[in-house]
Parts: sequence; C-alpha cells; structure tokens
Amino acid sequence: MAGLYVHIPFCAQKCIYCAFNSYAGKNELIAEYTKRVVSELYEYKPFDVETVYFGGGTPTYIPEGYIINILDSVFRYCNVSSDAEVTIEANPGTVTLNKLKKLKNAGFNRISIGFQSFDNSELRTLSRIHTAKQGVEAVNLAREAGFSNISGDIMTALPNQTLEALDKTIDKILDLELEHISAYSLTVEEGTPLYSSNLKEMLPDEDTERKMYHYVVERLKNAGYGHYEISNFAKKGFESRHNSSYWTGKEYVGLGAGAHSYYGGKRYSNAEKPELYINNAPRENIYIVDEEEKRKEHIFLGLRMMRGIRYEQNPKTDKMIAAGLLKLENGYISLTDRGIDISNYVFSELI
Ligand code: SF4
Repeated sequence: MAGLYVHIPFCAQKCIYCAFNSYAGKNELIAEYTKRVVSELYEYKPFDVETVYFGGGTPTYIPEGYIINILDSVFRYCNVSSDAEVTIEANPGTVTLNKLKKLKNAGFNRISIGFQSFDNSELRTLSRIHTAKQGVEAVNLAREAGFSNISGDIMTALPNQTLEALDKTIDKILDLELEHISAYSLTVEEGTPLYSSNLKEMLPDEDTERKMYHYVVERLKNAGYGHYEISNFAKKGFESRHNSSYWTGKEYVGLGAGAHSYYGGKRYSNAEKPELYINNAPRENIYIVDEEEKRKEHIFLGLRMMRGIRYEQNPKTDKMIAAGLLKLENGYISLTDRGIDISNYVFSELI
C-alpha cells in the first residue's frame, strides 16, 4: 500500500512568500502537463493505493476536467482501496459550487483549503488572491457540495501580525467547525520577493513567533482538536492519513513536476520545471534508502508526531529527556513544549 501524490504547479499569481514549485502565467502548459502526469502514472506497474493527494500549486485553479481526468486514470489503473482518503488542495479564490460538486462526484472525499488568515490586510500583505469572506464562502460551498472532511491552513508570524489579529483568525476558523486544521509559522525563504522586501523587518521576533505557536496550540486543543503533529490538529478520526504516511515512513509515489517519491526502497524526484517534466526529463537524485537513513528518518519524522516513537535506551535520548526536551510516557518518547521550540536541535542531537 502506498500514498499517491499528484503535483499541480499552476497558480493564479505567485504569493510573495511562496517557495513551492508553483508558477503563474503558464496556463498554456496545463493540457500537456496533465497528459504527462497520466503517462507518468502508466510508467509504474499498477500498485495498491491507500491515500491520494492532489497538491500544488493550486489544483483548483486549473479547469476541473483536467483534474478529474487524472483522478479517473488513477482509479482505473491502480488498486485504490475502497476507504481511501482522496484529498485536493484548494484556494478560496478558485472554487465554485459547480466545480466542487464535480470534484466530489469524481471521488475526492477531503478538501484542504488554504486560508492562511481571515484578516484582509494580512491577506493583501501575503498577496493572496482571496478575501476573508471568500475563505468562509469556500467552506460553505464545500459543505454544500458534500464534503464532510475539510481541512484549513492558517499561518502565524506574519509581517505586522499582532496576537489580537491572530486571535480573530483563530475565532473565525473555529466558527467554521472544520475537521482538521494546519497552522504553520511563516518562514522567509531565500529567493522569494518577501526575502528581498522591507516587510522582512516587520516580522515578529522569535519569542513572539513561539508565543503565537503555543497560543494556537492552546486554543485549538481547548476547542476539541487533537494536536497530533507539530503543525497539525484534528477532530478525532480526522487526522490526515496521507501526511501521516510521510511521518511514519510509508512509501509513496509522486507524480508531476518536482514531485518526490519513495518507492520500491528508492528515493527519487522529477525535474522541477514543468517544461522539462513535460518533455520526459529523466528522474533525478535517485538512491536506495539504507538502514541508517531509515533510522534517522524514523527519529526526525516520527518525533514530529505528538505520540512520538518507541523509547530505546541510549545516552543521547536520555540526555534529551534529562534536559526536558523529550518526555517518556508508556514506552514512547515525544517532544515536550520546549522540545518543539527547538526541535531541529533535538533531532540533530539524536541522529
Ligand atoms: S497559492 Fe500556494 S502554491 Fe500558489 S503561489 Fe500562493 S502559496 Fe504558492
């Protein structure tokens, strides 16, 4: 059983902070690109699929017929389990009731909506194409289209963001009664317009960023969401199965430009540029995952999950427990609140 990821790299416009493999103004590639995704699928022998995830980019930006065509091919070609989790990422500025109904009928049973904020001035600063009102409308439309498993993304540590503004965004997202919420701190990546803009000077300092994170955790937990991964929260039974499979070391196939795969014991990735991908550029960075890498991944991916990983006594682990960065409960070690704040340090000490 594997996860299947499909990358759709097209967007209406490029957000200033975005370092994903996504492009605006390449609509002329959409038809060829989606054809190539299907032909890439056929390069594999039919395989068993437990979760399907269409991410991007903005999958809901391109006409839904292309998306449905890829998903139909997946259903026809692979052995997709009857209870598979089938997710599509959506941007509130790109959905209509008609589109969402068609996607639901095609087999998507989970939708992940990128709100980022419910404050219009923050959304403008991030150069998102949607408004706070459209964020709420997207959820109403998704419910009307029949989606009963909806996830929403919000971001913290935005330029000029105050705790009061964050509080309002949390109020709004809780009002929507979503099944799942992801909350990420904005990171400023080199090469993005944000990196070279003076907005960078208006970002909260590290202490405030951590305060915001813990505040989000507290509010979502109080509202009944389980905190199951550093940045992810879910009502019981709605933890993302697809993303959990990355953290628990399961194999997955990635289709599309820049998509990574871990399949048949190997890791590899596709050419990033859609033009190269369309022209069958060979796979890159191919290597066999050895036991040492599996061990390291088990630690730094497994510890992202709040349930942690099985305790195996060794001096490094015991040192982290003594320092209050890991806790040991029922034979499992997991990050403490302080450990989450400096998780990269904890991971590097352990591996
Ligand atoms: S919508 Fe998402 S993928 Fe597209 S540019 Fe904005 S952040 Fe990047």
